Amino acid sequence: MPDILSPEARSALTSRIRGRDTKPEMAVRKLIHRLGYRYRLHRSDLPGKPDLVFRGRKKIVLVHGCFWHGHTDPKCKLARTPKSNVKFWTGKVVYNRARDARNIAALEALGWRTAVVWECELKDIDAVQRRLVRFLGRRRG
Ligand SMILES: [Zn+2]
Repeated sequence: MPDILSPEARSALTSRIRGRDTKPEMAVRKLIHRLGYRYRLHRSDLPGKPDLVFRGRKKIVLVHGCFWHGHTDPKCKLARTPKSNVKFWTGKVVYNRARDARNIAALEALGWRTAVVWECELKDIDAVQRRLVRFLGRRRG
């Protein structure tokens, strides 16, 4: 974290890091658990330690916070850059987006199929559920 941040920007950053992706990821984990799929979390032997790994299916679900991962959907209201330290935030998000793209490409090169669930999509949890069931396929217990 650079030292050029104002105290306000620093505390904004700290609170964003603390809450980083936790809530959306928990919501997706709960949903998938309720649907009865088995998964493993953050496997460190895979590129980018993906959030939810379905080994038997060779599938991966990534849950992306819209701000940190730079959601570019024009309908997304959560990806807005803070008004101060615009350069810093923009650089950070650009870096994260590049890293996400690298990780997904690396996973797919290893034969994994990936789906990204964006934080703002969780407003419509039924739609997320339908998409995930389609992506993951039949539940085998
Ligand atoms: Zn979004």
